Amino acid sequence: MPYVVYAFSLLLGLVLGSFLNVVIYRLPRHESLIRPGSRCPGCGTSIHCYDNIPVLSWLVLRGRCRACQMRISCRYPLVEAITGLAFLLAMWRFGLTWPVLVAWAFIAAMVAIAFIDYDHMIIPNKIVLPGALLGLIASVALEPQRWWVYVAGSLGAAAFMLVLAMLWPGGMGPGDIKMALFMGAVLGAHVMVALFAAFLFGSIAGIYMMVVQKRSRKAKIPFGPYLALGAVLAVLLGETILRNYQSLYS
Ligand SMILES: [Zn+2]
Repeated sequence: MPYVVYAFSLLLGLVLGSFLNVVIYRLPRHESLIRPGSRCPGCGTSIHCYDNIPVLSWLVLRGRCRACQMRISCRYPLVEAITGLAFLLAMWRFGLTWPVLVAWAFIAAMVAIAFIDYDHMIIPNKIVLPGALLGLIASVALEPQRWWVYVAGSLGAAAFMLVLAMLWPGGMGPGDIKMALFMGAVLGAHVMVALFAAFLFGSIAGIYMMVVQKRSRKAKIPFGPYLALGAVLAVLLGETILRNYQSLYS
């Protein structure tokens, strides 16, 4: 694959990551995603396009607003960098094919959900419900003979989370169940890899919070970020992980 394709993927991810910052901030506040343009949360000054270049502007301005010098969280360039890198890896995994478009859209949705859930303990219906429907349509269109894998993956993952929510009230919520529905619709059988990774990362983080940060065992932690991390891992490496796992038993 020519390097220019990878460069384009990275660039597209960075630019989309910049838009995801807007989505993460405004969607839970029920604000328009389009208008007004980006503003400094401190002084309200509109951000010029030359100060709105993903990652670079933050570095050049050393994480401060040009007008009022208020600190701008490193979260913004981080979201851009994560999205850019994941888009690049998706191109490496799928090449110039239709599935790369599905993977990009899925990754973008996962990044937005992860940070919104982290901030507000909400997994927005506005993302997961259309995502589940469009994801299933895309999966079936790309692999019509294996449509049942995606239906089963979607319903299976959601049922699994539903059982957990009933066994462990307060741990999982309806948002996690709907998110699993979305993940299964896109990942098919690889949703198993995503759920396994999510519980692994979630457990490690939970132990860290209890032991190192001395948080109570009852403290509520959003599970969406771990589901999203597992989902991105599964879309990029699900095939490889599942194949290696099966070869252990043959
Ligand atoms: Zn400012």
